[in-house]
Amino acid sequence: MDPETEPYWKAAAEGRLLLRRCNDCDLSFYYPRARCPDCLGNNVKWLEATGTGEVYAYTSTTLVSEWPEDALPLVLAYVELDEGPRILTALQECSSDTIEIGTSVEVTFIPTADDSVSIPVFRPIDR
Ligand SMILES: [Zn+2]
Repeated sequence: MDPETEPYWKAAAEGRLLLRRCNDCDLSFYYPRARCPDCLGNNVKWLEATGTGEVYAYTSTTLVSEWPEDALPLVLAYVELDEGPRILTALQECSSDTIEIGTSVEVTFIPTADDSVSIPVFRPIDR
């Protein structure tokens, strides 16, 4: 967490996923940063995402250093949010056998030992 990303992490701790949106070229983007990655302008605002999207790509791994064995296999994915940006994340409540590219997902947040930090992950939904 730094001054540039503090609003993002505070929102995540409250169960809300924030994106950035450029007021000059209308691009919505993730990860949150102060400058638009397209036009490089700094006229950007925070945008609360719907929290839904689709699996763009995914993989599954059974070997992750220092990861709890009962949380394996770990399904990692790029999720394309309804607003457009793709977010590198983990999928929960599914396995690589039960999802496919295009599966609808929604965000959920994993609490951490630090109450001010929650990690956004996604799970499949029907829609
Ligand atoms: Zn822009």
